[in-house]
Amino acid sequence: MGAAAGQTHSTTPSGARTPAAPGGAGTPSSAAPSADAPTATPSASAAAPPGGAVDPATGASHPVVDDVYPQYGDPATDVLHYGLDLHWDPAAKMLTGTATLTIRAAQPTDRFVLDLAGTMTSDSVQVDGAAAAAAHAGDRLTVPVGKQLPAGGTASVVIAYHGTPQLVPPPMTRPDIPGVGAQVTASGGVWAQQEPYGAFTWFPCNDQPSDKALYDVTITAPDGWAGVTGGTFQGRTEANGSGVYKWHQPDPVSTYLVAFSVDRFQEETATGPHGLPLTYWYLPADAAAAHQLIAAVPEVITFLEQRYGPYPFPTAGVLFRPDRVGMETQTMITLSTRLPVDDLLHEFAHQWFGDAVTPTTWSGLWLNEGFAMYSQFMWDVAHAAGGAGTLDDFMTTHVLPVDQSLRQQDGPPGHFKPTHFASTNVYYCPALMLNGLHDALGDKAFYQLLNDWAHKNKGTNQDRAAFIAFVKADTGKDFSAYINAWLDSPTTPTIKADGSGGTTV
Ligand SMILES: [Zn+2]
Repeated sequence: MGAAAGQTHSTTPSGARTPAAPGGAGTPSSAAPSADAPTATPSASAAAPPGGAVDPATGASHPVVDDVYPQYGDPATDVLHYGLDLHWDPAAKMLTGTATLTIRAAQPTDRFVLDLAGTMTSDSVQVDGAAAAAAHAGDRLTVPVGKQLPAGGTASVVIAYHGTPQLVPPPMTRPDIPGVGAQVTASGGVWAQQEPYGAFTWFPCNDQPSDKALYDVTITAPDGWAGVTGGTFQGRTEANGSGVYKWHQPDPVSTYLVAFSVDRFQEETATGPHGLPLTYWYLPADAAAAHQLIAAVPEVITFLEQRYGPYPFPTAGVLFRPDRVGMETQTMITLSTRLPVDDLLHEFAHQWFGDAVTPTTWSGLWLNEGFAMYSQFMWDVAHAAGGAGTLDDFMTTHVLPVDQSLRQQDGPPGHFKPTHFASTNVYYCPALMLNGLHDALGDKAFYQLLNDWAHKNKGTNQDRAAFIAFVKADTGKDFSAYINAWLDSPTTPTIKADGSGGTTV
């Protein structure tokens, strides 16, 4: 997600980047055990690979109880694959869907607990072809399996549902994000922004980052309307006055990273660096603004690839909205046409940091935003009109001075206040931490570290302990005291990356 408006929308690095309004005390959370890169091969018994790895062939992962938002998601439920057949009626503003979920029991269980908004109606539920009496209470849909499943056992759950998607209150204070989930526009379109949760407002799911899954989605809408999600667009077919848009997502995705919009989009295709297929979707009225950003996409991708290695997925694209949104939805960024190029770069940077490698739980949000923000600062410095000095100068002059007030307002970045999700603290403070690592390691080792982090861990969920262990293994140096101080300290740490300067934690 892009940083809050007013923080990063300056056209040069010398622009004002002022912190948000003050808040109260922070809430601690703990780091989870470490995890390694994927090593297992696909398994017929639907076991998940070790550590934070996700099996790219089956979608098997390691769901946990989220340490910030435990009210969503279920650790016994591991969705391997979502088959979504969605129908959008713009006149009635009605979404009608059939969701076919292949679910693995991550623990022995006789039920799967899914998230589905109370505003959506569950019309029927089947488990392995037999009708099931599911209970829909609040935003939870509890599906009895009809027997005790051992860990690793799988079942097919088919849920027919309908309703008008509605935003749910966001756990954040940002004025640019009034709600999370899918929302209907005045003209009958629909689109979603669902971090840290909210996918459950438009399909039944295990709505937490630690359950990555594969997707096949078809979206049917009347002629003149187009349905967009992430992955590879497999084409439009015509059926009874409607268009059927078919999508296949070949890499595991967390629910918060699934793009969704139906509107009167135009499609445009292009070829990016080294033949990367690019697809853009925009409203005709937004064509000129979209093209200003589209023109920058190849340079943005190249800028990131020079630092972090190859773009990590087989396709890329941007779903342009006229609304206020900047979201790193996997392989299909959801972006306002009103944002500047450095916000486009921010969302592309997340494809390496957040999408290819995803936090296990939301206390790891800094693993997304610190890296994307630092990348954005790099771009800003590199493109500053008139010259802005070095990246280090910029961080010291423009970012470091606000670090302490951000920690006071929103909590330390490693355990932000749960009601202050995606405040500026998780962007700026870990970007400063990364800048210290950059200074200590030098360009070559630093970029190699980030390149290795993204590519060796691609498709996995990771956490703080894993990052610290990875940095040590990759660089041969122990930065644990330094990294922990920057993530935990309520005041700006004085410790340097070489361990000197003491610690304030
Ligand atoms: Zn972001």
